[in-house]
Amino acid sequence: MSVNLASARVLRGLPQAAIACVAVVVVASFAPADGYYLNIFMQAATYAIAVTGLVIVLGYCGQISIAQAAFFGIGAYGVAIGTVDFGLGFFPSLVIGAAAAGLLGLILGLGSLRLGGHYLAMVTISFQQILTLVATNWIGFTHGPDGIRDIPRPTLLGFSFRNGHAFLALCLVTLVLVTLCVWRLKTGRLGRAMQAVRDNELAAGTCGIDVFSTKVIAFGLSAVVGGIGGGLFAGGFQYISPDQFSFSESIVLLTMALLGGVQSPFGALVGTGLLVILPEWLRFLRQVYLAVYGAAVILIMVFLPDGLWGLMLERVRRRAKPIEGGVAPLPLLAEHGEKSDEIVLDVQGIAKHFGGLKALDGVDLSVRRGSVHALIGPNGSGKSTFINVITGLYRPTAGRVIFAGRDITNSAPHLRNRAGLARTFQNIRVFRGMTVLENVMVGAERPGNDIAENPAAGVERALAALDFVGLRGDAHRQVGALSYGHQRYVEIARALAASPRMLLLDEPAAGLNLTEKQELGALLRRLKGHGLTILIIDHDMNLVEQVADHITVLNFGRRIADGLPNEVLANPDVIAAYLGEPRNEAA
Ligand code: ADP
Ligand code: MG
Repeated sequence: MSVNLASARVLRGLPQAAIACVAVVVVASFAPADGYYLNIFMQAATYAIAVTGLVIVLGYCGQISIAQAAFFGIGAYGVAIGTVDFGLGFFPSLVIGAAAAGLLGLILGLGSLRLGGHYLAMVTISFQQILTLVATNWIGFTHGPDGIRDIPRPTLLGFSFRNGHAFLALCLVTLVLVTLCVWRLKTGRLGRAMQAVRDNELAAGTCGIDVFSTKVIAFGLSAVVGGIGGGLFAGGFQYISPDQFSFSESIVLLTMALLGGVQSPFGALVGTGLLVILPEWLRFLRQVYLAVYGAAVILIMVFLPDGLWGLMLERVRRRAKPIEGGVAPLPLLAEHGEKSDEIVLDVQGIAKHFGGLKALDGVDLSVRRGSVHALIGPNGSGKSTFINVITGLYRPTAGRVIFAGRDITNSAPHLRNRAGLARTFQNIRVFRGMTVLENVMVGAERPGNDIAENPAAGVERALAALDFVGLRGDAHRQVGALSYGHQRYVEIARALAASPRMLLLDEPAAGLNLTEKQELGALLRRLKGHGLTILIIDHDMNLVEQVADHITVLNFGRRIADGLPNEVLANPDVIAAYLGEPRNEAA
């Protein structure tokens, strides 16, 4: 089923790909015969492939890699050494080079386990430098600073690519195919997972995404694509040397990606084209050429943070139409609903200490299936910490968490989500770079879900969830364009789209105005009506009284009351600790 779907998706892109390939072959054969221009085209095409690789790791996954020239170089050396020294064919050498690049990319990606941001960027720079040192000094294998010359071009099925135009056509066709694949990646499940990791790692993890492997895969894919570009570069110029793959080339590739717009492979094309051609155009300026070139790049980057392609995309987006037609209702709780005495979540003696601060100190809590359980307490009493421990963002200092009969105390956040725990955050954590629909699809696609492998069903499920919270009409808007309250609804829809066994809401009413609070109350009552098991934290006693079947009260990290709402709210300890005077105000 999933295989058929995958092939159907590839087939859908085929006509466009075929047309684009024919077009570039025509362009290639009409390219000026002059070797100078041919070389410029060749450089632009092979660089653009490498830059497209950067789109995956930096644009989609948000990981800075300043080593793309190294992967480009590995692909180039693969072809050069394979053909010249080992007498292999061009294409087998290309495959070996790209695979070697991919493997090293995966290894570099492993660095992202412990490092993020600037530190990871520095590791990629070191990697780049090491590769340059190896290429320069391991003379027996790489031919050292002299480089490798007379790299042969291939023949395939009797057709020769020896001629410059033919080889350029090969590069352009590869570029088209790579662009298409990377573009498709963006709208698929893996690409969405990468973008979720980019926009909010914590939230991505709690949506069932294995953050670490997603990053490692992004590094690997990016390196493979870089290697393919480099292999073709070696065939195109028939001579390579270490200085062509140095740190400064990595910066050039990075600039190309940022200039064109790193979010899209089309941006990579624009950026590469511009940065290869611009210096040629500006040559007439002689001495000041570099200054003008640098200034132009800086200006574009400052004023167009999403790159040139981002600017064009913004116009297209504004014209997107809402999706028409009905969807099946959200299959919210078919299997998990219905109230019963079964305990879904059983938390035993949970403690969480931050240094000397006991944010949680031996808290017990059990939630019954189909009930709405409220967790209340003054600010700083440990409520958010409690949810963070349950969803795996914090490791508890002591205690156990049993969910649906399984001990999940030490499971990673994404595995807890896959087991059926979904949550929202006190401080909204939506995926800002994505549309409302894409945000919710990330939730719908959690592995292990009945629809995880089926993209069409993912859209359906996400739309159903949006329908449920009343945001169906906003599906195609950027999530950042919504009001604060509606962004909260997007988070709730994202959590619901996974058809969770249990929903954890951390202060869903925080920051909402009165009307929005009333809407939220109605939404919660509807969820309750469906029989979803909910653990809700809130300050708003009105809201809690409307929906709660059971209340637990925390104070200074300890449980001070637990029971039915009317008992708990009448408890003198609770009134003293939390409600006090404001009780009247809330009523
Ligand atoms: P609540 O959600 O009930 O308002 P929290 O769970 O956010 O309270 O915080 C409980 C206590 O734990 C507070 O004193 C807070 O400062 C502390 N705390 C929470 N998270 C951390 C952290 N990551 N590091 C250190 N202290 C923390
Ligand atoms: Mg809190």
